[in-house]
Amino acid sequence: MTAGSLRAVTLASIIVLAGCATTDQPPVAAVESRQGLCQTNGVVLDIDFPAGNVGSCQVTGSNAFTLTITPEDAPPINCSAWYAFRLTPRAGNEAQKVSISLDYEACGHRYWPKTSSDGNIWTRLSNKQLELNYKLGSSEGTRLAPRATFKVDLEPGTPLFVAAQEILVPATYDAWIERVSAADEVTAFELGKSAEGRDIPALSIVALGQEPKEQVVLVGRQHPPEITGALAMFPFVETLLADTPLARKYRARFATTVVPMLNPDGVVRGYWRHNTGSTDLNRDWGPFKQPETRLMDRLLKDMAADPDRELSFFADFHSTQRDIFYTIPDEFPTRPKLFIKRWLGLLETRMPDFEVRRSVNKNLSQANSKNYVYRTYGVPTVTYEMGDETDRELIRKVAQEAAVAMMETLLAPEPE
Ligand SMILES: [Zn+2]
Repeated sequence: MTAGSLRAVTLASIIVLAGCATTDQPPVAAVESRQGLCQTNGVVLDIDFPAGNVGSCQVTGSNAFTLTITPEDAPPINCSAWYAFRLTPRAGNEAQKVSISLDYEACGHRYWPKTSSDGNIWTRLSNKQLELNYKLGSSEGTRLAPRATFKVDLEPGTPLFVAAQEILVPATYDAWIERVSAADEVTAFELGKSAEGRDIPALSIVALGQEPKEQVVLVGRQHPPEITGALAMFPFVETLLADTPLARKYRARFATTVVPMLNPDGVVRGYWRHNTGSTDLNRDWGPFKQPETRLMDRLLKDMAADPDRELSFFADFHSTQRDIFYTIPDEFPTRPKLFIKRWLGLLETRMPDFEVRRSVNKNLSQANSKNYVYRTYGVPTVTYEMGDETDRELIRKVAQEAAVAMMETLLAPEPE
């Protein structure tokens, strides 16, 4: 993806974000603020936009707010302490500095704050701007600070979004899908509805006039805050769509199904981990108790029941503290053979300066997508994780090379 096309993608999110700032009409996807507005004489703080979420807000000074960052429901929950809020200067105010304190009710600080005035270009706070405090006596055994404090500059007349990561919401996906599905070989469709009735979008990619037997399935955003996984998935998919001999050959032999946002309810609500059924969707592959995961089960079952289609590879895009590929062990048989080893080996060759870190676990009992799809269908599977703070340009580059390596490996003859 070029920088220009990424801007086009993120622009859509700001149309929604800005819409609620100017019309007082929350967009359809907006959620009710849990604690209403928090305001001083100079600034209004709100979360009434998709992905907006803080637990509660307290005014602690003339231009100071303390926000409690709270998970969506009781523990246990993954420590992905998401927050997103908007600061709007009141009319007639000069430029001002606003002090923010994030108080974590659970887990502690994980995501380095980013700001944006247009929802399009995001800037990471500098190292000097952020102060992480450990509450006395509570820091032992934890590397996550229970409090983060920082100041931001607010310009007159310009709202400022502050968020854990770039905000990518359903409107962002709609814009991206509209753009990529302009190509003849891409068909957008709705996989189904989330628990709250939101569309779960999907794409089918295949060369015109072809009905390939071999199938690739890609899924993303099971976990709402995992933005860097999404920032990898966009260029990964676009590389499959490129007008190159390799990509054309791939599309003639393989059909690709992309489900870029499986948990839209969690995304819109600014959840840390769950869907609205209080479930980590990536622990529900097998039980399939949630409507979102059931849709994936149906997709894969239909594929398996069709003699003219056969799954070849499955990848699930996520984020964690570092770049890592969770895979099944090489000694476990797959069809195609030794695919993960060959694919990641090729990625390493293509990106010598990038450390291709791989983690294998022989125990496949956890009900995540990687384990379930391997156990059920015997194909190579991967959880593709990008680091929370990995350089965004590097994420794009790795994704492009990983997609090229995937296509080359799938098209190569299998080893004896
Ligand atoms: Zn995840």
